[in-house]
Amino acid sequence: EAKSRGRNDFQFFHADMAGGVVAQLELVHALRGALRRHEFVLYFQPQIDLGSGRLLGVEALLRWHHSRQGLLPPARFIALAEEIGVLGEVGDWVLETACAQLAAWRNSGLEVPRMAVNLVLQQLEQEHFVERVERVLQRYQLSPGALQLEVTEAMLMRQAERALAHLHGLRALGVGIAVDDFGTGYSSLGRIHRLPIDQLKIDRSFVGDIGHDSADETTVRSIIGLGKTLGLEVLAEGIECDDQVLFLAREGCQAGQGFLYGRPVSAREILETYGR
Ligand code: C2E
Ligand code: MG
Ligand code: MG
Ligand code: MG
Repeated sequence: EAKSRGRNDFQFFHADMAGGVVAQLELVHALRGALRRHEFVLYFQPQIDLGSGRLLGVEALLRWHHSRQGLLPPARFIALAEEIGVLGEVGDWVLETACAQLAAWRNSGLEVPRMAVNLVLQQLEQEHFVERVERVLQRYQLSPGALQLEVTEAMLMRQAERALAHLHGLRALGVGIAVDDFGTGYSSLGRIHRLPIDQLKIDRSFVGDIGHDSADETTVRSIIGLGKTLGLEVLAEGIECDDQVLFLAREGCQAGQGFLYGRPVSAREILETYGR
């Protein structure tokens, strides 16, 4: 079959493959210099109290302004950044910039109660990570409670000792800890109550199936129940319609985030929407 396609097909295939490798190498090269060239930018998505509709805070979401490809979402570069070892440095930038932004909004008269920042394991394993966070908070005169750090369920299950010690240290400091994409991993119920966490974020794949998939509805109910039992705030990710809000509120979920309330937007747009 391959032979019958003939020589031109083979050449086409070959060129295409080479193009893929070159494109990948270019991306790696561009990614290495992106921080220095100030090509990263943070977008912010509102987190809402489902009962009152109040703004609880925002989550900082990273974007890369690639010189030729435009604004790239994290799915296009996070894994690669981690692979080439620059995600720790990028993560530091995210933390610093997110805190600076929270302080800047406050200076403009907009009181955003909380800033959620996503972490990677590489960061959580950095030496003196707790002190690093403490210094950033001090630099921008933020109370530790104004910062919520998001770790994924998968990260917690890796049982990395230093990372776990750092989580305990951050919690002791008063920084909030959220478990992102909850429900997609394999947390053992025996361990979860001993982890230093404050919030469970129900993964949006379950939220999206409310009203369509009773198994996923059961998962959502179980997570809300688990949160209640452990005294944790439960936030549903990826809320896109009112029916989902009704279901979640009825089940006792306190907080939500999703396109229904607002897509991730620039800092200026947050100020325009919530400031006065
Ligand atoms: P995440 O932390 O679970 O962030 C939520 C993602 O869901 C965001 O995608 C957001 O745009 C998207 N989303 C929110 N509401 C809705 C909705 O109603 N419908 C749908 N379909 N999607 C919704 P985004 O910004 O592309 O980020 C993807 C992931 O990349 C994040 O998932 C997070 O794991 C990672 N990420 C983003 N920024 C950072 C960062 O600064 N550091 C690290 N380590 N990871 C980050
Ligand atoms: Mg997150
Ligand atoms: Mg998530
Ligand atoms: Mg499903």
